[in-house]
Amino acid sequence: MSSHDHPAEASPEWDTPDFCPFCGTELTDLGAGFVDHLEDAPTCRTRFESWRENVAEDVGGEWGG
Ligand SMILES: [Zn+2]
Repeated sequence: MSSHDHPAEASPEWDTPDFCPFCGTELTDLGAGFVDHLEDAPTCRTRFESWRENVAEDVGGEWGG
């Protein structure tokens, strides 16, 4: 089990993540820092977008990485 698991889609952790759930980078600016990080990290942004698509298409399915 990883210490950086993805929060559930509706988890309040998404509002104030203190780390990037995709690469584990610590975020100093809560919330806004995550959005800024996604802009700085295209890989994480892509994974975030595809993760949300997967959640929408496959509720209750596996995380896939
Ligand atoms: Zn990241």
